[in-house]
Amino acid sequence: MRATGVKRAVDKITTPIWSWSLRNSIFPLHFGIACCALEMAASSAPRWDAERFGIVYRSSPRQCDVLLVNGWVTTKLRPDLRRLYEQMPEPKWVIAMGECAISGGPWYDSHTVVQGVDTFIPVDIYIPGCPPRPEALLDGFLKLQDKIRASTKGRFLED
Ligand code: SF4
Repeated sequence: MRATGVKRAVDKITTPIWSWSLRNSIFPLHFGIACCALEMAASSAPRWDAERFGIVYRSSPRQCDVLLVNGWVTTKLRPDLRRLYEQMPEPKWVIAMGECAISGGPWYDSHTVVQGVDTFIPVDIYIPGCPPRPEALLDGFLKLQDKIRASTKGRFLED
């Protein structure tokens, strides 16, 4: 169905506002798996201050829009992580932080470790390193903000 002129005008005004608010209020799930989680904690401490970019961790997946996977995922953990992802409302994104989340890391050939979180949930941003420093994590969040900006551009103008 083609959009009416009024709807197009409203969308043109509201879409940039919606996009701006979406990318500047990111709520990652506060879920630490392994050693990379210590860098996640450091990135929110006063020295790096992730909150200045609108990044505020929440403890319930129902209140989150980013799943930050920050360690090796065992086959036992995989269904629970998948459930956490499914409990998050749309729109939502996934960040794979560190070699373990990306590929299994030092345990890539273990039968109990999953070879990358993207084998069972879609990943938007990859942050390499063992561990990635807090600066790298913040850079990953900024890249996610760019991705949100690009994906919301003209989103409502096409229907
Ligand atoms: S990537 Fe390195 S620092 Fe991060 S969880 Fe794996 S072993 Fe630990």
